[in-house]
Amino acid sequence: MTTEANSSLHFIRQIVADDLKSNKHNGRVVTRFPPEPNGYLHIGHAKAICLDFGMALENNGECHLRMDDTNPVKEDVEYIDSITADVRWLGFDWGKHFYFASDCFGQMYDACEELIRKGKAYVCALSQDDWKDYRGAPPAPGKESPWRNRPVEESLDLFHRMRAGEFADGTLCVRARIDMASPNLHLRDPVIYRILHSDHPHTGDKWCVYPTYDFAHPLEDAYESITHSLCTLEFEVHRPLYDWVIDNLDHLPSRPRQYEFARLNLTYTVMSKRRLLELVQEGRVNGWDDPRMPTICGMRRRGYTPESIRNFAEVIGVTKYESLTDVALLEHCVRNDLNLRAPRRMAVLNPLKLVIDNFPEGQTDEFDAVNNPEDAAAGTRKVKFSRELFIERDDFMENPPKKFFRLAPGQEVRLKYACLVKCTHVVKNDAGEIVEVHCTYDPASRGGNSPDGRKVKGTIHWVSAPHAIKAQVRLYDRLFTVEDPMAQAAAEGKDYRDYLNPHSLEIVTGLCEPALADAQPGDRVQFERIGYFSIDPDAQPGKLAINRTTTLKDSWSKMTEKA
Ligand code: ATP
Ligand code: MG
Repeated sequence: MTTEANSSLHFIRQIVADDLKSNKHNGRVVTRFPPEPNGYLHIGHAKAICLDFGMALENNGECHLRMDDTNPVKEDVEYIDSITADVRWLGFDWGKHFYFASDCFGQMYDACEELIRKGKAYVCALSQDDWKDYRGAPPAPGKESPWRNRPVEESLDLFHRMRAGEFADGTLCVRARIDMASPNLHLRDPVIYRILHSDHPHTGDKWCVYPTYDFAHPLEDAYESITHSLCTLEFEVHRPLYDWVIDNLDHLPSRPRQYEFARLNLTYTVMSKRRLLELVQEGRVNGWDDPRMPTICGMRRRGYTPESIRNFAEVIGVTKYESLTDVALLEHCVRNDLNLRAPRRMAVLNPLKLVIDNFPEGQTDEFDAVNNPEDAAAGTRKVKFSRELFIERDDFMENPPKKFFRLAPGQEVRLKYACLVKCTHVVKNDAGEIVEVHCTYDPASRGGNSPDGRKVKGTIHWVSAPHAIKAQVRLYDRLFTVEDPMAQAAAEGKDYRDYLNPHSLEIVTGLCEPALADAQPGDRVQFERIGYFSIDPDAQPGKLAINRTTTLKDSWSKMTEKA
């Protein structure tokens, strides 16, 4: 698999291209992204968004953003706002095409009435439990509801009275009259309207009857003149019902078609809104935008760029096969993008003091540091240097193994951008821990050159102790310890929460070079040799909070190199 966004001709692109060629929809491409506003969007939705908006963009079409708000019970305005913000942040624009399914409740009600009038729907009084027996299980045919053949006038009257609020939830419903012997359960007289005495975030108390998803969705698509209604594979078995609804109503403005593709599943996370809501409500993460969450707002806060997510969506492609995508591929896309745009800075996350004994006390030097080797236009900056520095504790070993090229007693190392230093001795505390490493520097190596061409293999990063600024650094790891928490929980008779990674968040105090003082929330940097980081919105003047976006270790590249 290549990670170049190569605009592969996946099957949806092929279908759209063929339809344009045959002028099936008069040369129009109209798609929609139809989230139910009952949670925050996740990376799976991002795949759908990139596909829906992408097909429209590529073909001079339009893509509608539609709140599929037919279920009043679980929906909330908070979610609507987050959804629009996330789609915008991903870089897509729906123009004037922002819709609510609930704006069409009147038309849907009329459509249901039309079906009843045509004898294609009826009001049924079977309870949900009884219905299970009636519906039966293929290959055996189901049993007809005793209300299936009730006179049209009676059904119409009951439907009107359902709407007027005369009946309690669950007592009556409207069923499409299709085929009780169908091998497809969805065609065995499915419910199309139900009673729900519940206020709706958008229509208030106007309605106490609501259409089901299966009835509403094809109608929404038709009312908006959608040409290609793209959804995930679980809706494939619903498609005959989708087509039935469209085919049995007169005067619909258009004839939409539904196409299904495989949903995105990612390793080391869960992706259903219900599970994500549980994690938030139970306080297992710090909200929907916790950087460990697979939500779009979580990834934004973590420092992922919209470009990297769009590239990821292109690279994974669109197929008809269920699969589990390695999160390392997503991280690889993030790294590739940040490599080009993130300025380099130095920071030490696990500090050890380094004292340069032959550098004059109280004196400061300054070195030029390259801001981004991938981007000449990013220029250089000055980095302050002094007698006392901090280096990464890992970069020193008192008794190093053979191939340890960093700092050790008697060993010489390059301090990036600055000079060569050689370790003379260490100072320990009473507990025997090293608290200071002492060195001498070679004045002829200013700028980090090797003056006489002598070999110095290791280069380490550093910050100047008197100049460094403190930051709270949040080191994120995978949220779960196993690749597929849902599947593993099912296989082992456990709960998916049993696999939460107790070390998914570690907070340390880092020391950063002074250039970080100007960083704004949302800014992204590469801390040299450590990883990509982004400034958290929690940051306040003088109080930096920084999220680790990814480490530098690219396990995806490693895997693909081996393969
Ligand atoms: P979830 O299953 O996570 O609760 P959902 O399917 O209920 O999500 P919707 O709001 O109904 O969420 O989804 C909006 C659109 O996003 C639908 O067209 C759906 O098919 C698509 N979608 C949802 N999850 C994924 C996914 N993991 N991969 C690709 N597309 C997805
Ligand atoms: Mg859904």
